[in-house]
Amino acid sequence: MKIYISGLYSGTNPQPGIGIARSLRAAYPDATLVGVEYSNRCSGIHWADLDEMWLQRPWEELNLEVYAADIKEALDAGALWISGVDLEIMWLASVFPEGHKNLLTPSTAALKKISKPAVEAHKGLPVSIPPFVTTERSDWELHAFCRQHGWKVWLKGPYYEAVRTHGWDVFDRVRTLLSRAWSTERLFLQTHVTGYEESVCFSAYQGELIDSVYMRKRELTEEGKTWAGDVTEVPEEFTTPLRRIIKELNWTGGAELEMVRDMGGQLWLLECNPRFPAWIYGSTLAGHNLPALLVERATGVPARREVNVCEEFTRVVLEIPVRSQFPLPSLPEPYPGGIGHSMKHPSGTLALAERLHKLHVMESDGNGNGNGNGNGNGHHGRTNIAEAPVVPSSFIDDLKAYNFAEMETPSWLFLESTASELFKRAAGLASKLSTSTLTVTNAYSLKTNPDERLLRIARESGFLAEAISLLEVQKALQTGFRPDQVILNGPGKWWPEGLLPTSPIHAVFCDSIADLKRVVASMERKELQAKIVGVRLRTPTVGSRFGIPVDTPEALKKLVDAIELLPRECAFGVHFHMASSNIGVGQWWHLYESVLRWCRSIETLARRQIECLDVGGGWFPDDWQSDSGDQFAAAIARARNFLPFVKQIISEPGKAMAQPSMAVAMRLLEFEESSEEEVTEAVVDGSIAELPMHFFQPHRILRQDKQTGEWQTLKHGKTHLWGRLCMEHDVVASNVELPEGVRPGDVLVFCDAGAYDRSMSYVFGRG
Ligand SMILES: *Cc1c(COP(=O)(O)O)cnc(C)c1O
Repeated sequence: MKIYISGLYSGTNPQPGIGIARSLRAAYPDATLVGVEYSNRCSGIHWADLDEMWLQRPWEELNLEVYAADIKEALDAGALWISGVDLEIMWLASVFPEGHKNLLTPSTAALKKISKPAVEAHKGLPVSIPPFVTTERSDWELHAFCRQHGWKVWLKGPYYEAVRTHGWDVFDRVRTLLSRAWSTERLFLQTHVTGYEESVCFSAYQGELIDSVYMRKRELTEEGKTWAGDVTEVPEEFTTPLRRIIKELNWTGGAELEMVRDMGGQLWLLECNPRFPAWIYGSTLAGHNLPALLVERATGVPARREVNVCEEFTRVVLEIPVRSQFPLPSLPEPYPGGIGHSMKHPSGTLALAERLHKLHVMESDGNGNGNGNGNGNGHHGRTNIAEAPVVPSSFIDDLKAYNFAEMETPSWLFLESTASELFKRAAGLASKLSTSTLTVTNAYSLKTNPDERLLRIARESGFLAEAISLLEVQKALQTGFRPDQVILNGPGKWWPEGLLPTSPIHAVFCDSIADLKRVVASMERKELQAKIVGVRLRTPTVGSRFGIPVDTPEALKKLVDAIELLPRECAFGVHFHMASSNIGVGQWWHLYESVLRWCRSIETLARRQIECLDVGGGWFPDDWQSDSGDQFAAAIARARNFLPFVKQIISEPGKAMAQPSMAVAMRLLEFEESSEEEVTEAVVDGSIAELPMHFFQPHRILRQDKQTGEWQTLKHGKTHLWGRLCMEHDVVASNVELPEGVRPGDVLVFCDAGAYDRSMSYVFGRG
C-alpha cells in the first residue's frame, strides 16, 4: 500500500499532512507513506513517519501537465492520494474531472457547492451563515455594511485568509493586498460572530459518510488556530442532514466544517474546508481515525483500531532530526512586510493561485449579498461587474448651477437644494415628534462645517446652534442666531476668554466635575446665564475622553454630589455623544438605552429632575436618513419612559446634514493611456488637503460625459487617483475605474465632502 500525502507545512498555522501521516501510520504500520511538497522549507518533510519524499519544483515553476501525468501514473499503479492543500485539491479536481478511485479528494462540482461565503451545501444543517457582502459592491455600500455591523467585520479571500478590518483605511489597504495576492477582485466582507469555535470533521467515500467527529477548540494560538481541543460524537441532528449532503455532493475525502457557537447557542458556519484539518491526529487519539477509515473504504484493507482513546488532545513543539538528503536551505531573503498567512506558507500557494486563476480553475461564483440563508445571486463574466454607487438626484440638479469649463480647480461646490432638503426634513421630523408636553428640537453643530450658507439654512429650519468654543458662539450670533438659541458644549468651550454673550444662552453642558464647578462659580458671578445647565456623561462601556464618568460607585457619587451644586433656578439636562458611524448603528442604539438607564439612576440619586436630554451627532447621513421616523419616535418614547420629567429632547446632527451638502471638483492632470490595459495611476489637482476624510469614508465620484452631458458615478476598478501633493499617502481614491473617453483636463466631482472634509481641509503645497 502506497499513499501520497501533501500539505506538510508544520508551523503555527499548519497544514494537515503530518497529522494524516501519523494517523495512517497508526493504522497501517507497513504502508509506504510518500510526502509531497513544493518547498524544502517545509519542516514537515523531515517527519519520520514519511517513508519517501516527493519534492516538487515550486508551483510557479512546476510543469503542470507533466506533474498531472505523473500523478495519474501513480494512481493507476494503485497508489492513493490524500491532499492537504485546498488549491491543490481544486487543481486535482480539474485534472480528473471524472475523479479517480484512488484520488481521495472531492470533485469540482462538490467544491463549488462548499465555496465561501454562502456555502450552498449547508442547507439542512443546524447552522446559519453570518451576513456577508461581496466587495464587488460599491465602496459606498461596503462602508454602509461595516457601519451596520459596527465594524466587527472580516475581509476574506475566496479560499482562505481573513483579516479583521476595523476601519475604512485598513479595509482599503487589505483589499488591495488580498486582491493582488489571490488574483481576484471577488473578496467578501463578513460579520464577526463572537463565541466558541467548534468543528465537525468527517471522512467520506463516493458519497457515503464513513465517520465524523465533533471538536471544540479548548486552547488557541495567537492566530486563532487550534492548540488543544476535545473530540466527541457528532449529534444526530447534524449527521442526518450531513449524510444527505455528502450523498448529494458525491463527496470523497476528508472535510471540516468550521463554526462558531454564539452566546445564545446558535451555530454559525464560517467555512467548509475540502480536506482534513491540521488537528486530525487529535481525532485519531479519540478513537476516530478518519484518514485510515477513508483508506480502508477505498481499498478494502482493514485498518488497525486504536485501543487507548482519549477525548482531549493538546499540542507541543518538537525538535526532530533533519533528513540527511534534504539539508536545511540557506535563509530566505528577508521579506519586507506582507500580511496574513499566505505569505508565511513557503509552499507557494500564492503562485498556485495565480496559475489556477489563469487556467480558470478557480472561477468562484460571485455571490451577491448575504442574507443569512445563503441565497447568493450568482453572476458571471469577466468584465467589470462592479456596481456603481447611486447618488441622490438632487446632487445632479445642484451641479447644474456650475460651469465646469470655466472653473478653477480644486473647488468646493455647495449643493444648495440638497442642503435645504436635509435641514427641512430634520425640521419636519422634529415638529412631527413634538407634543404639547415635549418639544423635540434640532441643533446644528458649527464645527462640522461653519459655512454661513449652512448656518442660515439651519437657523431658518428652526435649528439651535451648538458651539464648542466662544468663537463659535460669536459666529452663531453674527449669522443671526440669538443667544437663547445657543448650546455650549465640549471640554474647551470657555476659549477664548471674554466672548461670553451677556444675555442667557439656551443650554450649557459640563464636561468634567472641574468644569461643573467653574460653571457654578461663573453663574454665581452672573457672568454666565443659561436656561439649562447639564452634564455630559462619559459613555459607559465605549471608551471616550469626554464627559463625566459614571461607571464606578465612586465616580457616580462624585457626580451626584456635584449636581447638588447646580443652581436650582436652571433646568437640569444630560448630554451624551458617541459617533454611530464609528461604533456602528446597532451599538449606538444599545448605548442610547444604557445612557437612559444611567440618567434614571442619576435622577433618583441626585433628586434632580432631568428636563432636557441632548443627544449628540455622529450619524452617517445615510444611516440618519434611512430612518423613516419610526425609530426616532420609538427613541423618544423610550426617553419618556425612563425620564418622566423630560420636556425637551435635542438632537445634534452635524455631518448627517452637512456631509452631502458639498462636493469638491478636481481635474485629472495626467495619466498614461494604453489601449489594452486599464489605467492604474492617474494624478489629479486635488489632494487629501481638500479631502482629509478620505481615510475614514468613501466618496462617490461623478464625471460628466462630454457628449451627452450626463453625470455618471465611477465604479470600482484598478485606478488609483494620486493627489497633487508630494506625499506618499496623498491618494484621493483607490480602486476606481476611469470611464471610457476620459482625458487629462476632465473634471471629477468628489461628493460627500461637506462635513469634516470641508471644515478640516488645509492649505498645503500652494506656495
Ligand atoms: C461635533 C459634535 C456634534 C456633531 O457631530 P457630527 O459628527 O458632525 O454629526 C454634535 N454634538 C456635539 C457636542 C459635538 O461636539
